[in-house]
Amino acid sequence: MKKSVGLIGYPLGHSVSPAMQNAAFKKLGLDWEYLPYEVAPEDLAGALSGMRALHMAGFNVTIPHKETIVPLLDDVTKLARIIGAVNTVKNQDGQLVGYNTDGAGFIDSLKEDAKTDPKDKNVVVLGAGGASRAICVMLAENKVKSLTLTDLLDEKAAELASYVGSYFGLDCSAVVANSQDLQTAIDKADILVNSTPIGMEPNIERNPLDENIRLPANLLVYDLVYNPAQTKLITLAKKSGCKTCSGLGMLVRQGAAALGIWTGKEAPIALMRKAAEKAL
Ligand code: NAP
Repeated sequence: MKKSVGLIGYPLGHSVSPAMQNAAFKKLGLDWEYLPYEVAPEDLAGALSGMRALHMAGFNVTIPHKETIVPLLDDVTKLARIIGAVNTVKNQDGQLVGYNTDGAGFIDSLKEDAKTDPKDKNVVVLGAGGASRAICVMLAENKVKSLTLTDLLDEKAAELASYVGSYFGLDCSAVVANSQDLQTAIDKADILVNSTPIGMEPNIERNPLDENIRLPANLLVYDLVYNPAQTKLITLAKKSGCKTCSGLGMLVRQGAAALGIWTGKEAPIALMRKAAEKAL
């Protein structure tokens, strides 16, 4: 019998995940299908009952359900609990188990696409939202030397810095967005990560950094935004001589990790990337 997986979120705009996952299932010879489901916040618990009743093999979770789904699941992995968010659920004999593959997708992309190991590196992360939480926890797990966070809401960056710093015993601080303190952190950083939506379609002329912030040439700039592939930040980073990487690799690798959790098979990453690029 055909097995079903899918994506739940609200509202659900255009997603490349169905094209990427369905291409992988075909390549692996699996009779599986991946479909998008728009689920409003008030319907989340009902949707989970439906997933169980329909024996769905699992699903991905996106905004706004990544955090609110946690208490509704039967179990959650230790990593997803530390992050406080779930982006992948597996139906294990009727038990819905939550995972987080966003952070691992980022680290895999950093190592494989940008050829950079975060161990002992100084990292600056712009934005302290849901994606940043997963990234910061995984950077800490991967033994970065220091983490500096900034957000438009100072207290959001301070809260995440304090949580990650105390949980992992890491040098982790928060600085004011676009301040001299941010410039100082960038000057000593090896990696700068944009974990804000700034620069994403349709606002492609926007940059999360003010014009007065300089990027040293030895920096790797990783932009989680993948649409467009070349954001304003990436363009400016290239002009400054920095190495750059777009978030498409993270998108593909978090999806590949989810496929592995559901099927137990190794995902065809190159093919999934091609399918994602085509669907964008
Ligand atoms: P989010 O929860 O909205 O968090 C973004 C945070 O960045 C918000 O707190 C926002 O503050 C802050 N921010 C906005 N402009 C800023 C600036 N100039 N400097 C510092 N902080 C700023 O969003 P998210 O879920 O974490 O996602 C962030 C981005 O990552 C999105 O573009 C998403 O599409 C992308 N993403 C990509 C992947 C991938 O696989 N490549 C995976 C997950 C997410 P305000 O709320 O005050 O504006």
